Order: sequence, then C-alpha cells, then structure tokens
Amino acid sequence: MPAFWEHKTLDQMTTDEWESLCDGCGRCCLHKLEDIDTGHHFYTDVACRLLDSTSCRCSQYNIRESVVSDCLVLRPDSEKEFAWLPTTCAYRRVYEKKPLHWWHPLVSGDPDTVHAAGISVRDNVIHESEVNKSDLEDHIIHWIDF
Ligand code: SF4
Ligand code: SF4
Repeated sequence: MPAFWEHKTLDQMTTDEWESLCDGCGRCCLHKLEDIDTGHHFYTDVACRLLDSTSCRCSQYNIRESVVSDCLVLRPDSEKEFAWLPTTCAYRRVYEKKPLHWWHPLVSGDPDTVHAAGISVRDNVIHESEVNKSDLEDHIIHWIDF
C-alpha cells in the first residue's frame, strides 16, 4: 500500500495527514517580496515574529491567522498561495505530483532530518523586529527556490 501522500490528493487527506505533511522547514514563514513589473517572488531572511527560529515552528500556530494578518494559511484549494511556497514544500510537491525528498520527516521517520539536510531556516534568519520594512530588499536571499 503506497503512503498516503503518494496516492491521495491534498483535498482527500485527513486533518492529521494534512498537518503531518508540513516538514517543519519554516521557509514559508519568511517575509517575501514581489517584483510588480515581472511578478517574480523573492524570499528574505527576515522571519515572521511568531516563528521560533530554532524549532522552525509557529509559536502560536492555532491562532496564527488572527494574530498575523498576512500569514500564508494553506488549504487544499490554495492554488494561488502555492506559487509563494518554496519548491521543497511538501504541499506544493504533492500538488505538483512530485515525490517528497529523503529528508522529509514522513520519509526519513526523523523530524530532525529537515534540519540536518540544511533545508530548514534554523538559526539562519533574523527576527522581523530587527529590520525596518523599508529595508526588506536588502535581505533578499537566494538559497530558497520558488
Ligand atoms: S514551506 Fe511548506 S513544508 Fe515548510 S514549513 Fe511551510 S508549509 Fe511546512
Ligand atoms: S503566523 Fe504564520 S507566518 Fe508567522 S510564524 Fe506562524 S505560521 Fe509562520
């Protein structure tokens, strides 16, 4: 029997399956910029104030939507939002019918492999309180692909 992420679509997953699909990388919790002329997206190394930069998890996950108005809350029909996700994101990969990487905790069986493989943002980001919004462009990074 194939694993659930190999045969189910996002909208067929149970709540537990859906939640377990998040690899805990924290990448989607970084501030992003869009070039209004080209439509290109860019990630910065500036993290949402609710991101725990060590665990790479949201510190107020259950109420995130009401605390951070521009939080990227994913749902199975979030097609437009998937364009803002990194190519490594499991939601995006399942949506695009691509396999999960070896370091995904569901594949490796170990929640630390996402950190060991250098995919998570652990200890590699700046808290948003340390950066002026007008300076975000100076914080664009290129180690996350769209
Ligand atoms: S980028 Fe995707 S897999 Fe990584 S934390 Fe965000 S939702 Fe989870
Ligand atoms: S509020 Fe949203 S963007 Fe901020 S850390 Fe939580 S999940 Fe990430």
